[in-house]
Amino acid sequence: MNSHNHLVDAFQRTVNYLRVSVTDRCNLRCRYCMTSHTRWLPKGAILTLEEIERLVGIGVGLGITKVRLTGGEPLCRKGIVDLIARLSKLNGLQDLTLTTNGTLLAQKAAALKEAGLRRINISLDTMDAAGFFNITGLNLLDTVWQGIVQAAAAGFNPIKINCVVMRGSNEDQIVPLAELTRSQPFHVRFIEYMPIAVDPHSAKSRFVPMADVQQRLEKLGALIPLPSKNGDGPARRFRFQDAPGELGFISSMSEHFCSRCNRIRLTADGHLRPCLLADEQVDVMGALRAGAGDEEIAAIFAKALAMKQGEHRLSFGGNCQLRTKMTDIGG
Ligand code: SAM
Ligand code: SF4
Repeated sequence: MNSHNHLVDAFQRTVNYLRVSVTDRCNLRCRYCMTSHTRWLPKGAILTLEEIERLVGIGVGLGITKVRLTGGEPLCRKGIVDLIARLSKLNGLQDLTLTTNGTLLAQKAAALKEAGLRRINISLDTMDAAGFFNITGLNLLDTVWQGIVQAAAAGFNPIKINCVVMRGSNEDQIVPLAELTRSQPFHVRFIEYMPIAVDPHSAKSRFVPMADVQQRLEKLGALIPLPSKNGDGPARRFRFQDAPGELGFISSMSEHFCSRCNRIRLTADGHLRPCLLADEQVDVMGALRAGAGDEEIAAIFAKALAMKQGEHRLSFGGNCQLRTKMTDIGG
C-alpha cells in the first residue's frame, strides 16, 4: 500500500489502480461486447489526450500507482503512443499497462515498448480462424497472432492472453488456448462472460462458470496452484507441470472478488466510475472543461470513491442490468 494514498473507500479498500478507456471506438465487433445499437460518441464528447494526462496525473498524486489503458480499442486512438510516453514519466506511477485486441499490435509493439509501456494484455478468444470471424466479425486471427509474436519480440514479458468463455461459441477453444502455455511463456487467462448491455436472461445460456473451465483443464494434467503476487488482480493462477506459461481463472460472476477490489475507472466520455459492474458514475469532464483546479478534481475522485459499493449486484437473474456499454467504460 502507498502510504500517501488518499483513496480509501467506505469499506477500507485502498484504491491504487486506475483503468482508463481512451476511446469508445473499436475496429472489431465482439458479440459479447457490442450490440447492434452500439453508436460511437461524437469526437468532442470524449476526453482529449491532454485531459486524460491531467486526470491521470491528479490520480497519481492521490495514490494511484497502476494505470491500464483500455477502450474500445486503445490502439485505434490517434496519439496513443505519445500518451503512453507522457504517462510513463509521471512520478509515482509504478505500472503502466494496456489491454488490446491485438489487431494493430504488430506494427505498434516496438513503439509501445519504447514509449514506456510496461506490460500488455491481448484478448484472444479462439485459435480457430472461422471461430474468430464468428466472434469478432472480422477475419483477423493471423493479424492478432502476428501482434502477439511482435509483442514478444519487442520484449513484453509476460504476455497475457485473455479469453472470454461462452457456451456454444468458443468452449472448444479452452483446451487449445490452455495448451499454448505448455510451449510458450504466455499467461492465458479465462474470464467469465458478464451480462453487460444485454438481456441478462438471454445471456445466462451463454455463461460458463470458471469451475467448469478448470475441471475441463484438470483432465489434461495436474494444475499446480501458484501463490498470488502483488498486482495479480482477481486471477487465480495455476500452471501445468513443467510448463513455461501459466493459467489464470477470473470468476467475476460466480465468485466475485469485490472485497479485494482496488480499482476505479475513467470512462472515454469523462466520468469516474467506481465499479465496472454498476452504473453509478460521476462527471469529471464538465469540471475539467469549466477550468476546475486540481483540488476540485481531487474532490471528484473522492466523490466517486464514496459511491463505491461493497459488492456488485450484477447477476444473470435479471435483478440488475448495466445500461452502459463496455466499450465506453473500458473492460
Ligand atoms: N479492445 C480491447 C480488447 O478487446 O482487449 C480492450 C477493451 S475490451 C472491452 C477489454 C476486455 O473486456 C477484453 O478482454 C474483452 O474480452 C472483455 N470483455 C468485453 N465484453 C465482455 C463481457 N461481456 N464479459 C466479459 N468480458 C468482456
Ligand atoms: Fe472491441 Fe475489445 Fe469490445 Fe472486442 S472486446 S468489440 S475488441 S472493445
